[in-house]
Amino acid sequence: MRNALGLMLMSVVAAALLAIGGWFWTSPARSSAKTQAIAAAQAAPAPPPAPAKPAVRNDPIEVTGSIPEKAPLAPTPQPKQACANPDALGVSRVVEVDTTGGPGFGFEHFKQIDFLADKEVVLTFDDSPWPVNTPAVLKALADQCTKAVFFSIGKHASFHPEILRQVAAAGHTVGTHTWSHANLNSKKLTEQTVKDEIEKGNSAVKLALGTAPAPFFRFPELQHNPAAMSYLGTRNIAMFSTDLDSFDFRAKSPEQVINTVMTKLEKQGKGIILMHDFQKHTAEAMPELLRRLKAGGYKVVFMKPKAPMQTLPDYDEAMMKEMKLPVATARPVNTIVQTVSQ
Ligand SMILES: [Zn+2]
Repeated sequence: MRNALGLMLMSVVAAALLAIGGWFWTSPARSSAKTQAIAAAQAAPAPPPAPAKPAVRNDPIEVTGSIPEKAPLAPTPQPKQACANPDALGVSRVVEVDTTGGPGFGFEHFKQIDFLADKEVVLTFDDSPWPVNTPAVLKALADQCTKAVFFSIGKHASFHPEILRQVAAAGHTVGTHTWSHANLNSKKLTEQTVKDEIEKGNSAVKLALGTAPAPFFRFPELQHNPAAMSYLGTRNIAMFSTDLDSFDFRAKSPEQVINTVMTKLEKQGKGIILMHDFQKHTAEAMPELLRRLKAGGYKVVFMKPKAPMQTLPDYDEAMMKEMKLPVATARPVNTIVQTVSQ
């Protein structure tokens, strides 16, 4: 009897320990992914890493809203992330987007959904990923403990999947931007080519990431047409235009990028900002631009999807063949190359 009771007690204690152990095991996995991403983004000489236990915690990220659903959703538990920078821009709120039916965002073209309050901005970057510039943008965002939406070109994702993975690992939203940055409004493109451009891009980004991207899409050159829009609607992919175009691809200096964004913001008061992490001037402008946003009292809203994109299996398969990466081998060199004559 005493033995049986003892065994029962031991099982209870063991179960409790397992449960606690499981919790601890899951927590560091997340922070290590984040640390890796930030470390990878710090390719350039940078200030020393954050202290292990920062004294000040920047605004913890919480889900505060849902678009376009009006009914409040059960909040998704978010990992509390400490911010080493007490003056960081941070993230003021996170919104979750229900992409059913392909809602459109950005008043330059889509005027239905007005969800930003005065002084609220959404940071978005097109043409990701690209060496040097994308990691520099990631570092600037990490230094300010803030989050953005990246629209990746399928081809760029296939060239630099490791950089796109850094974007996702840092907690940013990754959407898509076609396979080859084709103008989908061009009269030269057939309906099938338009579909191929969209779906090849979606599947290529999924393959590069190793997981499905967000069902967020931006038309190259902001060139849309009714047929492409209705196709994206059937695919439940949200369409992004912009409220505020930085025209950073035309800028001659980082200062010009900053001035364009800040001048437009002062006039408009809020908005989804379009930039390109592909552009050198933008990457160079980012630390100062984020400081100016903070100083100007602007707040960053982070957009993320309610559910991941559903890519089409046929395109996944086709892109897997097209994007075939060199096979890494674990075999020792001398089993592959041997001197047979000297
Ligand atoms: Zn673009």
